[in-house]
Amino acid sequence: MIYVSGQATGNPSPAGYAFRVKQGHLILRERQQTLTSGNALSATLIGVRDALQGLTQGDPYTIVMTNHALSVDLLNKSSVARSPAIHALVTEIQVLTAQHGLNPEYVHLLPETDPDLDEIIRLSEDSARLAWRTANSPACPRCGDMMTIHHSRGGKLWKCSTDTCSGTLRLYSSP
Ligand SMILES: [Zn+2]
Repeated sequence: MIYVSGQATGNPSPAGYAFRVKQGHLILRERQQTLTSGNALSATLIGVRDALQGLTQGDPYTIVMTNHALSVDLLNKSSVARSPAIHALVTEIQVLTAQHGLNPEYVHLLPETDPDLDEIIRLSEDSARLAWRTANSPACPRCGDMMTIHHSRGGKLWKCSTDTCSGTLRLYSSP
């Protein structure tokens, strides 16, 4: 089983995806990735492509589950991608599965019907939020490096991503 979820904070916007490859109860591969720009659909398709790239011929993982119904329709060829970028992704995935001799069945499940899928949705949401924060990070006032949001007793604040730097900034907004 391959579980894939792609999320975006807007359309298009910083985005993220996550996937999990499972055999029985065993998790064989899992990945969380941020994307500079995308939407929930493109992020889902990039996640499917990434998950399939790790598979070799003869692997029995032929079912991809996603939280995005449209990606399932596109990959099952029952609908046509209007955007050239989405069309290119779908074509890439079809070439990839043909090369590896895979014949995946793409299935759409609603959230809260499968614990693995829920976990992957959560991880992809985390990735999308991280991508948003990275894109909207101010420069550290001390060293100019990227800043990340931290939770402290006094609330949230921007903290320098360099461990050795103590630069902080007040946080005014976050998604
Ligand atoms: Zn710094």
